[in-house]
Amino acid sequence: MAMILGLTGGIGSGKSTVSKIFLSMGIKVFDADLIAKDILETEQVKEEIKEKLGKEFINLKSNSVDKELLKKEVFNNSKKLNILNGIVHPRVVDIYKKKYLEFKDKKEIVIFDVPLLFEVNLERYCDKVIVVDIDLKVQIERIKNRDNIDVALINKIIAAQMSREERNIKADILIENNGSLEELKQKIEKIIKDIERGKI
Ligand code: ATP
Repeated sequence: MAMILGLTGGIGSGKSTVSKIFLSMGIKVFDADLIAKDILETEQVKEEIKEKLGKEFINLKSNSVDKELLKKEVFNNSKKLNILNGIVHPRVVDIYKKKYLEFKDKKEIVIFDVPLLFEVNLERYCDKVIVVDIDLKVQIERIKNRDNIDVALINKIIAAQMSREERNIKADILIENNGSLEELKQKIEKIIKDIERGKI
């Protein structure tokens, strides 16, 4: 039996950092952001974007989605964001369903790294879900250092996401990431050991 671990958490909580640690241990990681990027380049999706959101979002010269323009548009218009999510999310879920069927009988640990895991109900294809949790103060500080954006915008993004309490309560495994990278690595090594010993 495989151990399919969902990995989720709020913005800047450390999901990518945790994924990198898993990858460095030779564990396969399937990153929803990369999957969504590929989906945006399929002809069917480009057609749907043209039809439902407007042809201005397709760069005619390169025949690719103008991601910057699209991001700006949907970030300021929740109705359009819902339309885009309605195009992209079912396809992302479908890919994870296929991955689940591919891996479920293999003896392997795999990671489904999905920021909106609970929002799209992907926990149904995971054996356990890891939530990366972080204190608000540390979260704002790390995002500020990484993205160079102002605190007001960071707060807006955090407020638009599922609340920390709601997310944490759904976790099978909660990783607190307020400490150092070394501490984070040790926590992940312990999770792997616990899985190998059948404790998880
Ligand atoms: P997003 O939701 O925006 O994709 P994320 O959850 O993937 O973010 P990361 O990009 O992994 O978060 O982490 C956010 C920032 O915090 C990064 O700059 C990362 O290097 C840093 N970081 C993560 N964990 C730690 C840690 N334990 N100690 C110091 N810095 C950290």
